[in-house]
Amino acid sequence: MSKNQKGITAPKDQDFSEWYTQVVQKAELADIRFGLAGFIVHRPWGFFIIKKIYEALEKEVESQGHQAFLFPRAVKEEHLTKEAEHAGFIPEVLWVSEAGTKKMDERFALPPTGEAQIYPTYAMWFRSHRDLPFKGYQTRISVFRNEMTTRPFLRGREFLFFETHDVFNTHKEALDQIQLDFETCEKVIRQKFKIPFFYFKRPVWDKFMGADNTFTPDTLMPDGKRNQLASTHDLGQNFAKAYDIKIKNKDEKEQFPYQTCFGPGIWRIMAAIIGVHGDDQGLVLPFDIAPTQIVIIPITFAKKPELSKKIIQKCKELEKKLSKDYRVKFDDRDFSPGLKYNEWEMKGVPLRVEIGPRDLEKDSVMLALRVGEKSPVKIKSLDSKIKSKIKELDKSIENNAKHYMDDRVRDAKYLSELTKIMKKHRGFVRVPWCSIEKDGEKCDDKMREETQGARVCGTLYPKEEKVSKSSTCIVCKKAAKHIVYVAKSY
Ligand SMILES: [Zn+2]
Repeated sequence: MSKNQKGITAPKDQDFSEWYTQVVQKAELADIRFGLAGFIVHRPWGFFIIKKIYEALEKEVESQGHQAFLFPRAVKEEHLTKEAEHAGFIPEVLWVSEAGTKKMDERFALPPTGEAQIYPTYAMWFRSHRDLPFKGYQTRISVFRNEMTTRPFLRGREFLFFETHDVFNTHKEALDQIQLDFETCEKVIRQKFKIPFFYFKRPVWDKFMGADNTFTPDTLMPDGKRNQLASTHDLGQNFAKAYDIKIKNKDEKEQFPYQTCFGPGIWRIMAAIIGVHGDDQGLVLPFDIAPTQIVIIPITFAKKPELSKKIIQKCKELEKKLSKDYRVKFDDRDFSPGLKYNEWEMKGVPLRVEIGPRDLEKDSVMLALRVGEKSPVKIKSLDSKIKSKIKELDKSIENNAKHYMDDRVRDAKYLSELTKIMKKHRGFVRVPWCSIEKDGEKCDDKMREETQGARVCGTLYPKEEKVSKSSTCIVCKKAAKHIVYVAKSY
């Protein structure tokens, strides 16, 4: 940050949209000046965090027996439209139809998700029940979707992707995998990245095109909009039938296998890390995912060159020592300490070590937390102090996020009540609901109109909340079968 670049100037609570845009640019997460709408450059600081998201997911799915593969980005037109419901993606698909100056004989698509690319090949790979279960995934790829409005890490025409595509002999095994996908979200998104979420079973009118059921962990962004962090789909035998994936079962009879796919939203998780943890100073990062975990800043004086030299020397010693265990940056650039503090705070560096003349005298340092206080620490006890501060920092990030989510859930029994709440409330509302099957969609449409955008997210999964016997659907007044969560979304 040079002197003419200010820190974050928009307050997060009052102007989230502007705050978010500033953090993305000023903390150097992405460059949005690439020149093509909806395409961004992932800068090193942001991409480091993205790699951490990928690594955590890869480790988790591989522990479940998934093997990585890589399919082409392109797909044949006839493959894209094989599953009738899935073909609903077509209005958003980008096509490659010209080569040089000539129209191509066969155009191809760059699809937003891999089913149509992968399943025709699966039809050639599996012959027998002995070939299953098969668990495959692709990672660190990008996909395309023709979005009209785009925002970094929330919506883009090109966005980062990760997907598993599993094939099983029985539906029971497929449902077990969906449970494992849920556990992956718990371990990676909640425990590692400290993002709280509700895990929903989506209503049928909002499920993945072609799936029997869709399950999603959803969090809230500070503007109150639902951020879908991942989705896992019970595909039943729908795609197997459409793509002719057949196996001989134990009785030597031909059978369609059962499939699941799981797609954590790499960008969406990144957006949640920015939005949920950040504060008015900028980014806040759990210790493990910060590109730089500890920054060392010397407080030197041009008028006292000898003393300054000693301070620099001490900083270098500490840098060497701490680098054995942590990602450390010694910032000896020619800027004022205050300016450096602001820059590293904005970029979310969890710990800062300052060394000035007084500290040198006392053989101590000042240790400052990104979220929390600053205190003097004797150098001989710095190691253990850092360890306890890391725990303290992560715990406070986790607690803040949990309170943030708890504060954003309300209840409503009547549509008028919901409409009133939705005018001010930025979050989820729990309401009694008639049906999450097809017949509940009309109520969802009406609710969306009345509340200017609130929609059913789904019922809690795996354990659905009980609805009291006397309660009625907030819209149609028929007996309520579910408690659903309602929110506005991106
Ligand atoms: Zn209803």
